[in-house]
Amino acid sequence: MTGDNLEIAPADVDAAEFDAILDIRFGREQDPVFTSAINVDANELARDPLRFVNANDRVLVVCDIGLRSKTAVEGLRLAGVPASVSLAGGADALRRMRATSGPASLSADEVERYDRQIRLAGFGIEGQRNLAAATITVVGAGGLGCPALSYLATAGVGSIVVIDPDIVDLANLHRQPLYATDDVGTPKVKAAAARLHALNPEVVVSAVEEMVTEQNARTVIAGSDVVIDATDNFAVRYALNSACIALGGPMIYASVYGFEGQLAVFDSTVGPCYRCLFPVDPSGDAVLDCSTVGVLGAVTGIIGSLQASAAIQIAAGVDHGLYGTLTLFNARQGRFDQLSIAKRPNCQACGE
Ligand SMILES: [Zn+2]
Repeated sequence: MTGDNLEIAPADVDAAEFDAILDIRFGREQDPVFTSAINVDANELARDPLRFVNANDRVLVVCDIGLRSKTAVEGLRLAGVPASVSLAGGADALRRMRATSGPASLSADEVERYDRQIRLAGFGIEGQRNLAAATITVVGAGGLGCPALSYLATAGVGSIVVIDPDIVDLANLHRQPLYATDDVGTPKVKAAAARLHALNPEVVVSAVEEMVTEQNARTVIAGSDVVIDATDNFAVRYALNSACIALGGPMIYASVYGFEGQLAVFDSTVGPCYRCLFPVDPSGDAVLDCSTVGVLGAVTGIIGSLQASAAIQIAAGVDHGLYGTLTLFNARQGRFDQLSIAKRPNCQACGE
C-alpha cells in the first residue's frame, strides 16, 4: 500500500494489513466479501469520517465496482486519514479474482455465464463450485425430465446422468421440448445428451439407455448427489426410493396428471421417504396415465422446473426448507397447495 495511490488491486489485498475495512455497497449484508468488514453508509462516511476510523488507521474502502469507494477515499484523505485506499474494481473484481483462482476454480467464462445465479444471496461462488462438482441423475427424459434436464445443464451442474430406455415418439413432442421433430425415432437419451451439450458444453452428460429396476437401481444411481424421479412408473419409484435410502441421498419425486401436478423432496436421513407417503403400490388400483387422460405440456414444464430448482439448491448447498412437504399444483385454478408429510416409524423402506 502506498500513500499516493488511491487504489489497491484485489490481488495485493491482505485483509490482515488493514485496521478497518469499510464496505459501502448497498445490499452488502447479503454478500460479505471480507469477514472483518464493517458496513457503512457512504453518505454518513462522507459527512463524518472520523466517526468510523481513526486518523492513523490503515483503511480499505470497498464498493461494487471501485468508483464510489475511490470518492470515499479522497474524502477520507482530505479529512486526515492518509493511509486509506480503495479496492480497485470493487467487490466485483474481488469476486472474479477469487472465482478464477484457487483449487476448485471457475474459468472467467463460467463466472460470466453463471453471473446471475452467483449473485443470489446464499449462492455465491461456493454454490457454483459445489454445483460444478455435483452429479445429478435424472431418471426419465420425458415431460418432467426435459425441463429438469435443461435447467440443470444451463445452471452448470458438472455431471448429469440421464436414464431412459425409450425412443422419441411424435406424441412426445408437445411436452418434451428437448427434442425436435427430426429426433423422432432416436433414443431419447442420445437426443437429450446432444441438446444438453449444445445448451452448455461445460456440462458432462452421461446417457444411459436402460430401464431402472430393483436389480440395477443402486448401480445406476451410485455416485449421484441428487436423484430426480421423472418417471411415471410406481415400480421404478419404489426401486429408486430403496436405492436412495441405501446410499443415503435425496430423491426428488414428481408426477403430473391432466392439469395437476405434485412434487416432494425426500431424504430419509432427515425426513420421510417416498414409501412413507405412499406405503402401498397404487398401481393395482385403476391408475390412469398420461396416455389415457392426457396432460398439458406447460404443466409438466412447471413441475419439472420445480424438480430442477430443488436439485440445484440441494447440490449447491443453499439453505432450503424443501423436505417434509408435498406440493400440489392445479393449473385450472392457478393454485399451489402444500401438505406436511411425516416419516412413518413403521415404514417398510426407511423405518427401524
Ligand atoms: Zn419411509
